[in-house]
Amino acid sequence: MTSVSLTFPIRPDQLTALRRAVEQADRQARAHGLNGCQLTRGQAEFMEWPDINGVPIGTVPCEDATVTLPLLHFQGWTVIAELEHEPEAGTTVTVLPPYVDEPVDVSPRCDACGESEGTLTSYLLRHDDGQTMQLGRTCTEPYAGFPAAVLAALWRLVRWCLAVEPYEAGTVPPGMRVDLGLVLEYAAALTTAAGYAKRGGDSPLTTADQVRALLLGSTDRDVVRQLHRHLRAAGDVSALAESVREWCRESTNDPSDYRRKLARVAQEDTADPKELGLLVSAVPIYMREAQRELRAGDRTSITATITEVSPLSSEWGQRRLIRFVDGAGCLYAWESMTKPFPKAGDQLRLTGRVVRTGARDGKVETYLSRCRVMPAAAS
Ligand SMILES: [Zn+2]
Repeated sequence: MTSVSLTFPIRPDQLTALRRAVEQADRQARAHGLNGCQLTRGQAEFMEWPDINGVPIGTVPCEDATVTLPLLHFQGWTVIAELEHEPEAGTTVTVLPPYVDEPVDVSPRCDACGESEGTLTSYLLRHDDGQTMQLGRTCTEPYAGFPAAVLAALWRLVRWCLAVEPYEAGTVPPGMRVDLGLVLEYAAALTTAAGYAKRGGDSPLTTADQVRALLLGSTDRDVVRQLHRHLRAAGDVSALAESVREWCRESTNDPSDYRRKLARVAQEDTADPKELGLLVSAVPIYMREAQRELRAGDRTSITATITEVSPLSSEWGQRRLIRFVDGAGCLYAWESMTKPFPKAGDQLRLTGRVVRTGARDGKVETYLSRCRVMPAAAS
């Protein structure tokens, strides 16, 4: 065996550093008459990318890289590991993968000169007959003909290859794409439970910022905890998210640039994080459009906050006009005889039948009847 190959997954943005490490080791090896080092790239694929809790949130381009480097032989001996001895920290052993099962004596020493004290980098050599020996860095060249610079460059490369991980928790690697379904579900849940927050509004974080924090992480743990409470409070919004997605996709020939762009972005299963704002904005717009399309007799379910409860005259007992606003700002009203009457500020889940559509404050107001009322999930 004259060379050893290491194959491992890597992201495109990590390739530059790998290429540099390969070139340095290659230059050193060739300058000393050894075989060079090579980098071979595999086919690019997309790997699933989890968030800090392990939930898959998107994909990142990834490929298998193979690094080939020369094995160092000398009179039946082969260099199989580097040992870095630190009096305080102990010994770090980096073994070439084909030899990982070899027993390694980690006591620091150099079998050529007898040095065994202090900070010492040594190399472990294994003979064809099974014997091993260690050579200190300054003795590898006089004793075995391997310049220390070659060994250092080769093992820097080996350590790089063994240590590189395509996944680093909490990072947003270049080329990452987020799961479109998850973006719309988070946006639908936050809009439902907390109301849509647009730029320039009262909320310090827009809904798009909130979705970004949920997907890609935030340094503010309190914010993230609060957002997760909203997600739980919203309950199951998958039907709403799916409707939003369908609505986005169906407008490829729409006269509006906005709708055409949405349609284009929503065709894919994943999206560039730069498109988060655009996608998230589709949720309230869809909800308002869906409200405008309601006709008398339709059944609809909403999660809304009560804004007003006022008495109505009645011959048959107490009646109240109850007004609601949902997370997209859509207005609803219900003339209710169902006691106990809710109070302003309550957040409720209502399912009712549309009786008529009116206008208030320049907006559509939908009147419902015979509502089934449940508390919105506890927040
Ligand atoms: Zn020595």
